[in-house]
Amino acid sequence: MVDIKFEEKEKILKSFNSTHPLIIAGPCSAESEDQVFQTALKLSKMNIKIFRAGIWKPRTRPGNFEGIGSVGLKWLKKVKDELGLLVSTEVANTYHVEEALKNDIDILWIGARTTTNPFAVQEIADSLKGVNIPIMVKNPVNPDMELWIGAIERIHKAGIKKIFAIHRGFSTYDKTVYRNQPHWEMPIELKRRIPDIFIITDPSHISGNKKLLFEVSQMAMDLDFDGLIIESHINPSQALSDASQQVTPEELEDLLIKLVIRKSVINDKNFLQTLDELRAQIDKIDNEILNILENRMMVVEKIGRCKKENNISILQTRRWDEILRKKLSQSRKKGLTPEFITKLFEAIHEESINHQSKIMNE
Ligand code: PEP
Ligand code: MN
Repeated sequence: MVDIKFEEKEKILKSFNSTHPLIIAGPCSAESEDQVFQTALKLSKMNIKIFRAGIWKPRTRPGNFEGIGSVGLKWLKKVKDELGLLVSTEVANTYHVEEALKNDIDILWIGARTTTNPFAVQEIADSLKGVNIPIMVKNPVNPDMELWIGAIERIHKAGIKKIFAIHRGFSTYDKTVYRNQPHWEMPIELKRRIPDIFIITDPSHISGNKKLLFEVSQMAMDLDFDGLIIESHINPSQALSDASQQVTPEELEDLLIKLVIRKSVINDKNFLQTLDELRAQIDKIDNEILNILENRMMVVEKIGRCKKENNISILQTRRWDEILRKKLSQSRKKGLTPEFITKLFEAIHEESINHQSKIMNE
């Protein structure tokens, strides 16, 4: 476990004058004074407390809109002064931090491409020394838990008290329905490693389109994460960056109304009793799974001995392909997803190979 203690979540929400979940919204990029103000005006009427807009945009390829630069900070300042919203933007170096602080920006975030680079994160951390401002750390583009935690630690060591983790998904070589794979196990593991970390999901960058926005947001709520950061633009189709994933403030309002917010604890006796009974069943089944795996590995070892005596190689590709195909087809009727079954049997197969390899080399 990482030894970082953060403020209680209730206190954090209170300090933003917000209830659970914390909603941060605003365009991907600040484009013009009018676009920023008109978007913020609508969002401010929807009880949104924190406004987001990128001023410097880290684009993967050159030649795209790379942000409006420092002039946009004045537009954010206007949103803050005239609409009473807290304002936030992305920083990637000392210059960005200094410019943002000069213009009274309330909250800064470190983007996914920056979190991958410890030099950049350390530079930001150094320029934040003596400053008391909340910092949000996006997950790195690659699913590397240590990089994410490392960035949080660097900011924490600089004396920053309010640090939030933003879960924005992870890039992959394969094209999937998501722009960035959610890998829900990553924020779950982050929470296990830093129990009181405040986690905000960014369904916009995970989805990459409007269609998946609701289900990703709902999943974050089902997992009891603490907030959402969602891109909203007054005229999404004309947006200079991330047009396909931005929603109008009205669409955002619909999404937020539909969202089911769940409680993390409840004291109802009947519920707790039912939960206990079901958990006892789960514990029993988990024990059976362990016993079954133990039995499987004992048979695997017998096969290993047999192969060793006959000088046969461990990996029998055709047999492995047949197992996987059969299990995939059987699992369909059982309501188990092919992704899960593939992952499960790959893990079992890997462990079986390891057991046989040990026998072979005894
Ligand atoms: C953004 O928030 O607009 C952004 C660039 O996000 P990310 O760092 O997650 O790609
Ligand atoms: Mn964006």
